[in-house]
Amino acid sequence: MNGSPFLREGLLQERLNERTRCLVCERRCALREGQSGWCKTRRNEGGTIYTLIYGDVSSLSSNPIEKKPFYHFHPGSVALTCGSWSCNFACPWCQNWDISKAEPKNSRYMSPLEFVDEAISRGCQGTSISFNEPTLSFEWSLDVFPLAKERGLYNTYVTNGYMTEEALNLLIAAGLDAMNVDLKGSKEVVRRYCKADVEVAWRNCRLAKEKGVHLEVTTLVIPGVNDDEEGLRAIAARIRDQLGEETPWHLSGYFPAYRFHQPPTPLATLERGWEIGKEEGLRFVYLGNVRGHRYENTYCPHCGELLIQRYGLWVAAYRIQKAKCPRCGESIPTVG
Ligand code: SF4
Repeated sequence: MNGSPFLREGLLQERLNERTRCLVCERRCALREGQSGWCKTRRNEGGTIYTLIYGDVSSLSSNPIEKKPFYHFHPGSVALTCGSWSCNFACPWCQNWDISKAEPKNSRYMSPLEFVDEAISRGCQGTSISFNEPTLSFEWSLDVFPLAKERGLYNTYVTNGYMTEEALNLLIAAGLDAMNVDLKGSKEVVRRYCKADVEVAWRNCRLAKEKGVHLEVTTLVIPGVNDDEEGLRAIAARIRDQLGEETPWHLSGYFPAYRFHQPPTPLATLERGWEIGKEEGLRFVYLGNVRGHRYENTYCPHCGELLIQRYGLWVAAYRIQKAKCPRCGESIPTVG
């Protein structure tokens, strides 16, 4: 291998007879010499798998944490956010397709220290690895997280949740504080469109929760794909039963992108999804991509008091006091 900073030996791999298996995500690609993985970000060179995108930053911006979205994690704070290239899912509606459907471009190298220094100099309170699938930046994340923690920053992932258990455990041990996991639909929907097994994402949500990682989940509601009442109700009930009724569920509106041309999600569909979430007992359900809608706000699940008023990505008013509703004293789980 040449001396490119983007190339690093993959941390999780095992040698088989003629192949080497990558153990970063549940695709578990078994690669022959010279072969690239499903995600195109890893390659077998001489029997060893290398990541091709260590520190390969495709996009960088300071974002309100609400953009991820996280609504119960350091509300009103700003995270320095970066993405790299490619993805390990096949979703034809990807809203970030310009980077997630691209092969590694080795455009701009940022060392972990440069990234953390940049976050501090911009006055950010945390980091977020997102835009494309952050699991593909696994080795770089493991180097960023401890440095960020040393400087008092939090660390977040916005992910499809398809990493192996071993990878997730290492990320948590390195300092992953919060994850937003995209639960895209039923087993059939995720198999058909994303070519993946949604059970892995559910398993990792449970694992993250057990290990004390702050968890919020998102469903991009796509007409004709996952917008049926029965399907949304099944997701809501499973969040309640397996992740807890206090887990925030974000229902985001989709817009036509990449290879999917259905019209945008009607507002009425999103509002019905919100009602379904509440009917199933979820305490915090939110709508996304509908700026100024009342369901962007946090209301006390006991007395209905408006607790956090949002407008798009901005927190306009914050009334929670010591993690409680100031009117009735109901406990409101928030971090930071
Ligand atoms: S990270 Fe890429 S190479 Fe590794 S198992 Fe997943 S898809 Fe395959």
